[in-house]
Amino acid sequence: MSKRDRNTVGIFSRFLDLLYPAVCEICQVPLKHGYSLCQDCRNEIPRIISPFCKKCGEPFDGNINAEFRCQNCDGLKADFSFARASLRGLSLSFRLVHGLKYQRQFFLARELALFLKETLEKDPRFAEFKSAILVPVPLFWRRQQWRQGNQAYELSRELSRLSGHENIEAIKRIRPTNTQTKLNRKQRLSNLRDAFQIRKKHASTIAARKVIIIDDVFTTGATAHECARILKEDGRVNDVAVLTLIRG
Ligand SMILES: [Zn+2]
Ligand SMILES: [Zn+2]
Repeated sequence: MSKRDRNTVGIFSRFLDLLYPAVCEICQVPLKHGYSLCQDCRNEIPRIISPFCKKCGEPFDGNINAEFRCQNCDGLKADFSFARASLRGLSLSFRLVHGLKYQRQFFLARELALFLKETLEKDPRFAEFKSAILVPVPLFWRRQQWRQGNQAYELSRELSRLSGHENIEAIKRIRPTNTQTKLNRKQRLSNLRDAFQIRKKHASTIAARKVIIIDDVFTTGATAHECARILKEDGRVNDVAVLTLIRG
């Protein structure tokens, strides 16, 4: 980086400090490092650690040493190889995602992507996905316009900057879907049928590659399954893993 570039970056981050008050999002302690959480709060946010379901990432309390699948995943069809989430679905982690998703605090993506990077590095199964493409779960354009952005895309883009993976919006949502919050998995799957399509301009780039689907929350896995299904069938993708910030 040239001296001039460094100055520009410095001026830019000082400008951002004016726009966004540089205090920790959780404890309000003043910050100087350009992120949104202080080190103490960052360390305290509960990560998902072993044991967890090897298919859906659901954490379990207790001592299980062998690889296992949870009861939900037993006999369930899912077109992704495995799904992994970084953080437990507790009020603190949901509060941060809520800010990103509904309050247009897109600057939080930079902070939250650090958790995703941590998981990419710590879960040995991602070693097979070193040259994979990151594909964010898309929103329907009208919802994206309403929220002024897509939280999955923001996370994916920031993770791409940190990890060096390519980030490609290879899937589009071609029809609006009802909110899934109150639906069970079966209802979610039928709600999502024919909701996604591969973007033609990216079809040749993703063919025969591996993909990591990026989203903010993994709940029943219906969205991840439907995205994985079209990536494999229509996009001819080789293998699909899922990485989300929270296991809801
Ligand atoms: Zn703090
Ligand atoms: Zn499971």
